[in-house]
Amino acid sequence: MDKPAILGGDPVRTMPFSLRKCFGEEEKKAAVDVLENGNLSGFLAAPGKYFNGGQKVQEFEQAWAKKYNFKHAISVNSWTSGLMAIVGAIGIEPGDEVICSPYTMSASATCALFYGGIPVFADIDPKTYCLDPASIESRITSRTKAIIVVHLFGGVADMNSIMKIAERHGLIVVEDAAQAPGAFYKGKPVGTIGHIGGFSLNFHKHIHAGEGGLIVTDDESFALRCRMIRNHGENYVDAYPELQINNTIGGNFRFTEIQAAIAIEQFKKLPSILEHRNNLASHLIQKLEGVRGIVPPTVDEGCTHSWYLFPMKYDAEEVGMPRALFVRAVNAEFPEPSSQEQVAMTQGYVYPLYRSRVYQEQKAIGKSGFPFNVNEKIKYDYSDGICPVTEDSFEKTLLLTGLVREPLTIKDVDDFSSAIEKIVSHSKKISIKFADHSDFSQMESTVDVASRT
Ligand SMILES: *Cc1c(COP(=O)(O)O)cnc(C)c1O
Repeated sequence: MDKPAILGGDPVRTMPFSLRKCFGEEEKKAAVDVLENGNLSGFLAAPGKYFNGGQKVQEFEQAWAKKYNFKHAISVNSWTSGLMAIVGAIGIEPGDEVICSPYTMSASATCALFYGGIPVFADIDPKTYCLDPASIESRITSRTKAIIVVHLFGGVADMNSIMKIAERHGLIVVEDAAQAPGAFYKGKPVGTIGHIGGFSLNFHKHIHAGEGGLIVTDDESFALRCRMIRNHGENYVDAYPELQINNTIGGNFRFTEIQAAIAIEQFKKLPSILEHRNNLASHLIQKLEGVRGIVPPTVDEGCTHSWYLFPMKYDAEEVGMPRALFVRAVNAEFPEPSSQEQVAMTQGYVYPLYRSRVYQEQKAIGKSGFPFNVNEKIKYDYSDGICPVTEDSFEKTLLLTGLVREPLTIKDVDDFSSAIEKIVSHSKKISIKFADHSDFSQMESTVDVASRT
């Protein structure tokens, strides 16, 4: 009865995991109300009353700002747009270096390239998967202008140490909290512990409007510049001769009224979503404590985790089987998933960003190598080995599950931990059976498309 499914035994369960159901009557009604009222966007690209958008857009921004005490909240059509606006607003110029994490969605670093900034990758801390302060410090040069910190998987980076380094070197700190809405670091909400930050509202995230994002900052000037970049700032500066015009040409990064109306309702649900995920995660941590070769995540005193994903550390030697085989064996304990959301376990997260062609070939804008060639005497290094902790997590030690989410239950999480325990206890038999299969890397997709976005 206890025989692993991968060896022909009965699986832990045959019922698929329920899919997320994000929207209820509230969102439907909110969207229909906007349609009936007919004003689908309140923006006008000229100074004046309509420069900052319509009623729903402003109501959404104020709701989020008020709850977390952010001075300014600026909605955008995606968090990628938000990151681009931030890079412009903080004054990144061609040749400026921006310290980034290599272990994140690609936009957390490519945003710098749009303004000619050069992403310089620092390594992550093996405990938090977020930038390691010591590694950040080792990457600082006279050309460094900013650090983009990512609160990965919903956990928070070591912000006190990072802010100290930033102050010492006069650097601006951007917080990419796309995966960590509502997380707290030592009593402070993420987003404005650094100088500016924000959240994503794409459909994978805790709450969403299909697409969307929100920039938050306590800095007046950064907020104004983000608002300009969001909405054709070249038209705005003409009315205010005292404004600096560099980096203020704008895009159209505007959130629509329907999206905002939906997002207002979604935002009301964030506290209960966070509580639900936290209950499941706390339970799973307890269950996994003491399982040989598996280390559950830890949350520091005074901090909260948003549980976008639940990371675990894997020790192949202790468990007695290669990671890819382990993942395959655990997933075999569950029915074939019909969507990414139902996959019980994945490994490795995304490959280190510097392995992307944009860094390998050092070409982003045009054919000449701009902006990597702006600082003529400097050679940028994006070769393997520059961030060993990231590479190790990607290749060997990181396991992930997305099962700590609504509407899943303690029973679902128990099934997951039972599958893990079952496979760990049978690792010898399984690895003997699969000893000939040398190429485990082909067994599971290491890069899960959902977590890239
Ligand atoms: C989702 C995500 C982004 C991009 O957000 P979009 O709203 O999809 O543009 C950026 N950074 C991280 C860490 C993310 O998870």
